[in-house]
Amino acid sequence: MRVTLVASSGPQQPQLFNSFVVDDVVAIDAGCLDHVGDLAAMSRIKHVFLTHAHLDHVASLPPFLDAVYDGSGDCVVVHGHQHAIDCLKQDIFNNRLFPDFLHISTFRPPYLKLNEARNGEPIRVGQLRVTPVEVNHVVPSLGFVVEDSASAVVFSGDTGPTEELWKIAGANPNLRAVFLECTFPESMEWLAEIAKHLTPKRYAGEMQKLGRSVRFITVHLQARHRDTIITELQAMRLPGVEIGQPGMTYEF
Ligand SMILES: [Zn+2]
Ligand SMILES: [Zn+2]
Repeated sequence: MRVTLVASSGPQQPQLFNSFVVDDVVAIDAGCLDHVGDLAAMSRIKHVFLTHAHLDHVASLPPFLDAVYDGSGDCVVVHGHQHAIDCLKQDIFNNRLFPDFLHISTFRPPYLKLNEARNGEPIRVGQLRVTPVEVNHVVPSLGFVVEDSASAVVFSGDTGPTEELWKIAGANPNLRAVFLECTFPESMEWLAEIAKHLTPKRYAGEMQKLGRSVRFITVHLQARHRDTIITELQAMRLPGVEIGQPGMTYEF
């Protein structure tokens, strides 16, 4: 399995938005799908799985759908928690923030289809199997376990301390890696508590829950505090932890 951590800006510049691409055809989150590559590369993405509808995870979705629309009816499927789907309907495709692609799709070849991703119910996309698992964030949010025949990779999405994701991931014999968020440094533990995110200490606690040693690739570091978060994580000498490199493609 190939996973690209999409860079939301240029080299050495802050990463403010979030997207991954798996095997060229599946996106996890749509914060920066405009940075996937040329139009041909963007057009290969036919399934977008949303962890939740916060803007740093959906900002590029409307213009992305506009860009790849070819009128053939073979449109992108957007999978997400019912709460995220409701946000897209009410808050984004409402003719105020963006044209109502969902209404247009009722009488013209569709721009997108929406699919409710339910907790624990796998969704098959070609050779991939994507299992949504509810995590612990300020809005209903999903992590995803993505599997092919050889490997399984976990995407935590935004989350505070959580449980079920680690039970499901820990039971998977093919688990290779976890992309785990670490948004704040320890000095902002208070905000991690309110906003339901992780700090390095909380991150270590999540690793313990898995009870397995796999690669932990750290993502969603708040740009202003990135260096502090990295220093604090490295000081704990946690086995298998690395810092996600925007623009890099990982092979599992
Ligand atoms: Zn969020
Ligand atoms: Zn976020």
